[in-house]
Amino acid sequence: MRLKASPVEIVTNAQVTVTMGGDRLERIELSTGQTLPCQRLVAALGFTANLGPLREWGLDLHDNRHLVVDSAMRTNVPGIFAAGDIADYDGKVRLIAVGFGEVATAVNNAAVHLDPAAQLFPERSTDQPVPA
Ligand SMILES: Cc1cc2nc3c(=O)[nH]c(=O)nc-3n(C[C@H](O)[C@H](O)[C@H](O)COP(=O)(O)OP(=O)(O)OC[C@H]3O[C@@H](n4cnc5c(N)ncnc54)[C@H](O)[C@@H]3O)c2cc1C
Repeated sequence: MRLKASPVEIVTNAQVTVTMGGDRLERIELSTGQTLPCQRLVAALGFTANLGPLREWGLDLHDNRHLVVDSAMRTNVPGIFAAGDIADYDGKVRLIAVGFGEVATAVNNAAVHLDPAAQLFPERSTDQPVPA
């Protein structure tokens, strides 16, 4: 209320598209096309998952916001895998490092799903010959 009553211009329906300046931030451009002077940019990112049309795909959901997967990151629908924050299982920890690992698991299991002759475990980069 006090902010709204103040002379501060409030822009809500917009995104920061460009930051400008030299050694220091000086200006930002918004998706509205406005350019505003700026000394500090604070990224205050919230997160609320919205599954949208995925709700209609017959996938097992948890909390109506996450897809239930098994240890191979498979959902209940054959051929659909999930990884990252959207994927859910007992003991899930929603962190970036966890998501990266889950993607590797999902992709390698998806490869085998598409080609049952494919190897689940990919080669390690250290198994590759050192380039001359
Ligand atoms: C405030 C906050 C702080 C965090 N801090 C840390 C931290 O310090 N360390 C850490 O490890 N983790 C942190 N996390 C968790 C981390 O951000 C997540 O675990 C990680 O981003 C998950 O990655 P993701 O790719 O699964 O999902 P996301 O990063 O959420 O990516 C999903 C993407 O899909 C897009 N999307 C959604 N719906 C659609 C659609 N219908 N069509 C197309 N695109 C769509 C979204 O816009 C988004 O870009 C934090 C999370 C929050 C909210």
